[in-house]
Amino acid sequence: MSAAADVAARATAGFRQRYGGEPAGRWAAPGRVNLIGEHTDYNDGFVLPFALPLRTVVAAAVADDGRWSVWSELDDEPVEFGPAEADEPGRVDGWAAYVAGVVWALRAAGHAVPGARLAIASDVPVGSGLSSSAAIEAAVLAALVELGGLDLPADRWPRLAQRAENDYVGAPTGIMDQSAVIRGRPGHALFLDCRTEAVELIPFDLGAAGLAVLVIDSHAPHRHADGEYAARRKSCERAAKALGVAALRDVATGDLEAALARLDDAETRRRVRHVVTEDQRVLDTVELLRAGRIRDIGPLLTASHASMRDDFEITVPEIDTAVEAALAAGAYGARMTGGGFGGCVLALVDADAADAVAAAVAAAYADRGFTAPGTRTVLPAGGATRLD
Ligand code: ADP
Ligand code: MG
Repeated sequence: MSAAADVAARATAGFRQRYGGEPAGRWAAPGRVNLIGEHTDYNDGFVLPFALPLRTVVAAAVADDGRWSVWSELDDEPVEFGPAEADEPGRVDGWAAYVAGVVWALRAAGHAVPGARLAIASDVPVGSGLSSSAAIEAAVLAALVELGGLDLPADRWPRLAQRAENDYVGAPTGIMDQSAVIRGRPGHALFLDCRTEAVELIPFDLGAAGLAVLVIDSHAPHRHADGEYAARRKSCERAAKALGVAALRDVATGDLEAALARLDDAETRRRVRHVVTEDQRVLDTVELLRAGRIRDIGPLLTASHASMRDDFEITVPEIDTAVEAALAAGAYGARMTGGGFGGCVLALVDADAADAVAAAVAAAYADRGFTAPGTRTVLPAGGATRLD
């Protein structure tokens, strides 16, 4: 059985076992990885994620009592809640808050959400930065919209799923993850302008070019990631204020040196340089992909990594080791992806070299005594959808 069929079968089996009977349908949403554009989102800038072939599947059916029951294979116990709990952020906590949050966001937008029984299985690793959170939100949203016959076009789903995560779960994320997992398409990356929320699918057909992206889970413990994230954000906001712009996105690449000269603190200058050059790298990557020059984006990926390491200072030894080993083994480019201080590295490789690059990274880890990394090759996949 393929991995995709397997996860759907697990969701169905979970449904039968927990609730008896058959689900009315199964809905899936993928994880995502950000090809380039890191810490640009909250600076009103650009990002370029793509949807992964790893998916979260929800098997679901309407419940006539108007309440919600949700089971996930990550937990033995199903969680139940009704309208009163759904309407008050915080009343449902733990992982089920991601589900209650979607119900809340739909109801807050005036939709009559049907009660439902939901069983969830997933191949998206949780907490690795591949956005298992957006995957569960989008899969649940797709299920509830269709079960309820709700009038909600898919271009409004990302904002709703984001509200669930921001306002019900209480996690301050931008709109990148939800956009990627809802609007991603096979063979494409999603170019997102975080200021206007305009999205554009950009050809990124790795398979046709004999290429693949190797995703390396660093397995590095997240060290102070939340506090460091908040500090970077604050530093960017202060710099924008000092420069008299709404956000660092408004500093043009050509004006960067002049802008840096106006900042008296060396650390702030490094932070600004990362954001401004990273926005430009996203735009340059999009141009190359539009021209079908996928291999040529490699140096931009690697430059992005150097900028995160030296200017934004958000990498850790495990991450830098993975990037260096992948490049030494012949990757066209490699960079950390995600907020930093752990998480994943991605490397652009020839498809038939992926195993050798993965082995080289594993060997470098063993040399340094790090916990073995997780590796998988991926191609851009499709967004949230009904399975059958
Ligand atoms: P990431 O999105 O990078 O995987 P997050 O911390 O944003 O990490 O989201 C992970 C959380 O999302 C989990 O701790 C859990 O609460 C919830 N979650 C994700 N996938 C599932 C799932 N299949 N079943 C239950 N909860 C899930
Ligand atoms: Mg997440």
